[in-house]
Amino acid sequence: MPIAESSPAASGPAEGALGRILDGRSIAAHVRERVAAGIARRVSTGRNAPGLAVILVGKDAASEVYVRNKGRACDEVGIDSTVIRMAGDIGQARLLAEVARLNGDPRVHGILVQSPLSPHLDANAVIDAIDPAKDVDGFHPWNLGRLAQRRPVLRSCTPKGIMTMLAHTGLPIRGLDATIVGASNHVGRPMGLELLLAGCTVTTVHKFSRGTEEHVRRADIVIAAAGRPGLIRGDWIAEGAVVIDVGINRLDDGRLVGDVEFDKARSRASWITPVPGGVGQMTVAALLENTLQAAELQDSAQA
Ligand code: NAD
Repeated sequence: MPIAESSPAASGPAEGALGRILDGRSIAAHVRERVAAGIARRVSTGRNAPGLAVILVGKDAASEVYVRNKGRACDEVGIDSTVIRMAGDIGQARLLAEVARLNGDPRVHGILVQSPLSPHLDANAVIDAIDPAKDVDGFHPWNLGRLAQRRPVLRSCTPKGIMTMLAHTGLPIRGLDATIVGASNHVGRPMGLELLLAGCTVTTVHKFSRGTEEHVRRADIVIAAAGRPGLIRGDWIAEGAVVIDVGINRLDDGRLVGDVEFDKARSRASWITPVPGGVGQMTVAALLENTLQAAELQDSAQA
């Protein structure tokens, strides 16, 4: 259905006007301030700073950058983070033993295994091995199951960050039509559960779907998470829709772009995220929130 007259998203930009930028940098900065204040309160009552352990296997350049950015963000808010580097040819048993050791370490409240893991490792078995109470990526089946049952605990970081961005628009999203392009375990699927929880009518399209264009055209909210530059044409965007571009694609000329044709989409959207400076910032901010939440939950479980 095209955006209904009564839909909040229908109050899109006037003709010729541009959609407002959903600025991940500034929203994430607010989130970090809130987390830093929460940690300061915690420490002032004699409790320890939240601890995050990041396991990095091998030497993937992009993963190095992600891990460095997470470490910096942790430093800024007062999370005690450590990176455990393991050789690229590490065996599954050794990796699982490290996860088990961190599960048992009371100074570690959150465990994150940086993806992608090399193909000789079973990434699902590694996720399953993480204590769900320390699963700050929100990838463990227990945490995803809780979200599916409308009782979320630790929520997947990228969809959680996107929900924070949607809240920032001030639009009441209950009842809106949302189309998610991409159905991965880390982004598309938990995103669908988040939007369903928020009362949206959710359509998820993926590489086997027919009619992606039609599904995008009738959406009040478009979440693009396929990892295909330019897949979502700007003229597919309904007037006044909110456009969230999760894609991060490096072009041959070195530019970083999302999945959405940005300029054209912006001329139709009410709000749109840039790439870079959009969702990526929010993913890290949600990780910080989850790490503090995990520390608080573990304290109360012991009390
Ligand atoms: P993935 O490869 O695991 O999943 C891609 C999904 O897109 C699949 O479900 C696939 O079926 C679907 N897809 C592929 N081609 C399609 C097409 N032509 N039409 C419709 N659907 C199609 O990727 P992912 O891990 O979910 O990541 C997706 C993108 O988001 C990547 O660019 C990734 O770098 C980016 N990403 C960004 C953040 C962030 O914080 N901004 C976080 C995670 C992933």
